[in-house]
Amino acid sequence: MDLRETTVTMLPKPAIRLFSGPYVAGDSMQAAIDKTGELAGQRIAATIDVLGEDAASLEDISQYVRIYESLIDRLSTDAGFAGLPDRLRPSVSLKPSSFMIAPKDGSGLVLEPGKMDWKNCGATIDRIAQLAASRKVRLMVDMENHQWTDGTLALYAELFRKYGAWIGTVLQSRLFRTPDDIEKLPDGCRVRLCIGIYDEPEKFAMRSYPEMKSAMIPMARRLLEKNIYLEFATHDIPLINRFLSEIVVQGHIDAERFETQTLLGVPRQRLIEQLVSGTYFTNVPGGNGTTASLRRGIIHRMYVPFAEDWDKAIAYCRRRLKHSPNLFWTGFVNAPRVLYHSLFHK
Ligand SMILES: Cc1cc2nc3c(=O)[nH]c(=O)nc-3n(C[C@H](O)[C@H](O)[C@H](O)COP(=O)(O)OP(=O)(O)OC[C@H]3O[C@@H](n4cnc5c(N)ncnc54)[C@H](O)[C@@H]3O)c2cc1C
Repeated sequence: MDLRETTVTMLPKPAIRLFSGPYVAGDSMQAAIDKTGELAGQRIAATIDVLGEDAASLEDISQYVRIYESLIDRLSTDAGFAGLPDRLRPSVSLKPSSFMIAPKDGSGLVLEPGKMDWKNCGATIDRIAQLAASRKVRLMVDMENHQWTDGTLALYAELFRKYGAWIGTVLQSRLFRTPDDIEKLPDGCRVRLCIGIYDEPEKFAMRSYPEMKSAMIPMARRLLEKNIYLEFATHDIPLINRFLSEIVVQGHIDAERFETQTLLGVPRQRLIEQLVSGTYFTNVPGGNGTTASLRRGIIHRMYVPFAEDWDKAIAYCRRRLKHSPNLFWTGFVNAPRVLYHSLFHK
């Protein structure tokens, strides 16, 4: 165990909860719905995720199903969201590991990847996807480490065939396989593109952050060429600027075809305000319909997790901190701001 892992293991629960605070809407579905409503008032969309540990029993899986079904029900019946323009409406994000019992080792790797039960996991997610599509709530199937990529993409292809672009999935630019995965995606589907949070072995993935971030640019271009709705997810401001100038503005990409995304709690307010109001594009040369659409403002969506069970959420946050050096150091650097925030702004 290195220094980072030892520190994370020894951090007491209240410390993990304190430092996770700004990134989590609260400890109830209502808290996430309130936060989503607050964001909608600022013209910011949200995707809501239930924070928790992997499923360890059939009971855990049933509980996640209940929570997601009730979340979709709430989002589709809440009068406040019904009045929003289509693309501003909240979506839902889930992880396949919440719906499969797949024991892992200390480093987060599934112990018996050959025995992963995609059949039952897929059937469970299908049930949630069917409800989401019938209620016109968009559902994203998040991506986990490389052991989950094949299964998640196969499941996604099936869900897209049945429910269309109500369902989307995620690709990670750090994986060497991603350019091939892009080619295999059905045209017209919906994809969130990010660098990926998991610390992958060099056999499968790039290890340099500048490289994996740069790789997002040609991948974004290719996804748009394939008429795929693109969710460009990063907090890296120079990278967002590159995406908007090299791909969107130079490529005359209409605002209807993409959105940017960040995690709740990561301070990007100024940029987000400029994006959603359209002022970001004030100096972009005008004279065409695309520029006009950008100047009306683009969609920015925040990832809004909530915890139903803080013990499980803390276990999850602890695991993420252990397996993502970048997340750990970002949290460490931000600790004074987070402490200030929790002391004076709650
Ligand atoms: C909406 C959304 C959904 C995602 N879904 C997935 C998924 O399904 N699967 C997956 O593997 N990964 C997912 N990710 C995580 C993503 O892959 C990256 O790990 C994460 O976004 C950090 O990478 P970055 O591109 O922002 O670059 P970074 O270099 O990590 O961040 C750039 C800068 O942003 C700031 N920053 C970043 N994170 C934080 C933070 N937590 N607190 C404070 N400041 C911060 C720092 O100043 C940092 O220097 C998602 C990310 C987002 C935004």
